[in-house]
Amino acid sequence: MVKQMDFDPTDFTIKKIRRHAKWLIFELAPHGYILSHLGMSGSWQMSHTPLQEKHGHIEFIDKNKKEYGVLTYIDPRRFGHFYLLTDENFKLKEAALPIDITSPDFDVNHIAEVFFSNPNKVLKPFLLDQKAFPGVGNYMASEICARSGILPTRITGEIEAFEIQKIKESMDIVINGAVETKGTTFSGGYRDANGDKGEGVKHLVVFYQNHCQMCLEKDIVTKVIKTTLGGRGTYHCPRCQK
Ligand SMILES: [Zn+2]
Repeated sequence: MVKQMDFDPTDFTIKKIRRHAKWLIFELAPHGYILSHLGMSGSWQMSHTPLQEKHGHIEFIDKNKKEYGVLTYIDPRRFGHFYLLTDENFKLKEAALPIDITSPDFDVNHIAEVFFSNPNKVLKPFLLDQKAFPGVGNYMASEICARSGILPTRITGEIEAFEIQKIKESMDIVINGAVETKGTTFSGGYRDANGDKGEGVKHLVVFYQNHCQMCLEKDIVTKVIKTTLGGRGTYHCPRCQK
């Protein structure tokens, strides 16, 4: 785990927590920031009392708070990053973060430009390139291809304008769904800050599904095909995706 601490945070207050791509940004008072990347398996959990968690690495305690006064960073695989930064050092790090996929600047034209400058990439593994699509995870990439009606093996330079429009619409559905439903959980994956499992898995159309849920809505039973692309499990519907 990567750790940098510019100052001692005792007596500091967390004013606000926001997300940028795969980073969490904690705004502190009277000054300073925490920048936290969850890596493969990290999570922050709120609790009433200290968790005694063997994979707990960082613990913040608000002694004045009777409920949820403890915030713990848990990371069994230790790929996370944690930076406690002065305002000045935070500005430097923030400037180097890529445009977030939920930012208004990440529009159809931006996606078209990204494809245009990377015309020979296989679509689904390319959606996982964090420099191009910061914040897209493995299940999201399969789901974006499925909802766009595009095969995961298509080459970026051959994707048409109307398909890029569909990719943008699908990204919005999949990403907003992921946030509203507290992240998606399977095989012990993501949980929200209270330790509750995510509900996102209920809304998946192909990922980890036996049958395509978009086809089932039309009373058609189509078996989802699982392949491996770029070393990652990939799911698609042979009927919905061209
Ligand atoms: Zn289908």
